[in-house]
Amino acid sequence: MDKVIELRRAPAAKSEARTVVILGATGSIGKSTEDIIAGADGAFQVEAVAGGRDPRGLARVARALGAKFAALADPSGYAELKEALAGTSIEAAAGEAAVIEAALRPADIVVGAIAGAAGVAPTFAALSAGRTVALANKECLVCAGPAFMRQAAASGAKLLPVDSEHNAIFQAMGDAELATIEMITLTASGGPFRTWTSEAIAKATPEQALTHPNWSMGPKVTVDSAGLMNKGLEVIEAHYLFGVEAARLDVLVHAQSIVHGLVAFTDGSVTAGLASPDMRVPIAHCLSYPKRISTAARRLDLASVGQLTFERPDFERFPALRVALEALRTGRGLPTVLNAANEVAVDAFLNRLISFHEIAAMVEKACDAALADGVSHEPDSVADALAIDQAVRERTRALFGKQAASSLFMH
Ligand code: NDP
Ligand code: MG
Repeated sequence: MDKVIELRRAPAAKSEARTVVILGATGSIGKSTEDIIAGADGAFQVEAVAGGRDPRGLARVARALGAKFAALADPSGYAELKEALAGTSIEAAAGEAAVIEAALRPADIVVGAIAGAAGVAPTFAALSAGRTVALANKECLVCAGPAFMRQAAASGAKLLPVDSEHNAIFQAMGDAELATIEMITLTASGGPFRTWTSEAIAKATPEQALTHPNWSMGPKVTVDSAGLMNKGLEVIEAHYLFGVEAARLDVLVHAQSIVHGLVAFTDGSVTAGLASPDMRVPIAHCLSYPKRISTAARRLDLASVGQLTFERPDFERFPALRVALEALRTGRGLPTVLNAANEVAVDAFLNRLISFHEIAAMVEKACDAALADGVSHEPDSVADALAIDQAVRERTRALFGKQAASSLFMH
């Protein structure tokens, strides 16, 4: 199967083709991006692709898209990447500096689709160089939102939202003045535990958390979605991206994932962004913005969907959402702390070191501790945000070490 894909010819780029760099090319967003580009009839030319630890996967996508440069974050995968690219003119490189180099290659648009805070430095590098960034990686803004938005303003770089809710809101806002927006609503599917009791959610296994009803995504964002932490991260992302304070950001649970975001105006009008739950829709919108391209993305057929339902989120059963919203309201760098602690907690859950309900509990504990001892403050640069991130990771990991020794379920 891989062979067939490898032999597929990269689409011949047109002279007016947009040049693209894909950071996180081997992941779920990366694959959807590949699909759009492969089907766009030469409208895009891929300059570089970057990935984490999968040299063969990275070589495959680099070949399929005819990239000029392939960068793997994990230096130990260099030989395998080089071997997998043998016989092509694609340059191979590995290590964190190589990923930054990929981000800085000349391009019209950089797709930021690395998972987690690992994406902060390369995405920030692209933004600082004035590139238009199609941002999927919400952790960039949660970890270092003020620095990202300041840098975008200073370099004149555009930050286009790939996250489906933000993309829908961006489209629904049009060029409205912020003062005329009364409320921005992000919808949440509710995830696999939408109808479960607190007791059942507390004992959920990684397999259950990784089974999302509507979206197929990478493991970290899927676990975040199951506990509604993802929606909390997205409200924080929306706060920075759109420059709207917490009081004007709302969440509604909408099980069908058809209406992704709504904008209510001061005159009583409401506009909304709708689409089938298919990430190729917002990715295509960002890649071609402000024009539109034709895609093979799933079309929305409202008659066959039949009913659209909406309900208020339940903060009792989904405490992660409450913890994230409190972090946003408190400020003082707590979103940075929340993001770091959550990444460590999700990892521990996936490794069966802690139970599902302990994810939110540990994140809350990390936020309280960081406020109490002064670790948490509004970061004034990306370096400052990453220093807080690192300190919180170390402390949260130490906390898990103690927990793992005492209680906890092992399968
Ligand atoms: P995946 O886990 O599927 O993919 C993550 C990608 O990041 C992989 O290509 C991985 O490489 C790469 N990566 C990891 N660490 C590094 C690193 N240090 N340097 C370079 N590349 C690295 O995640 P998703 O595609 O699902 O999500 C990506 C981002 O987009 C996340 O922030 C997520 O929240 C956001 N998002 C995702 C959506 C979705 O539908 N999937 C929807 C909306 C937002 P490798 O494979 O080699 O490990
Ligand atoms: Mg989303």
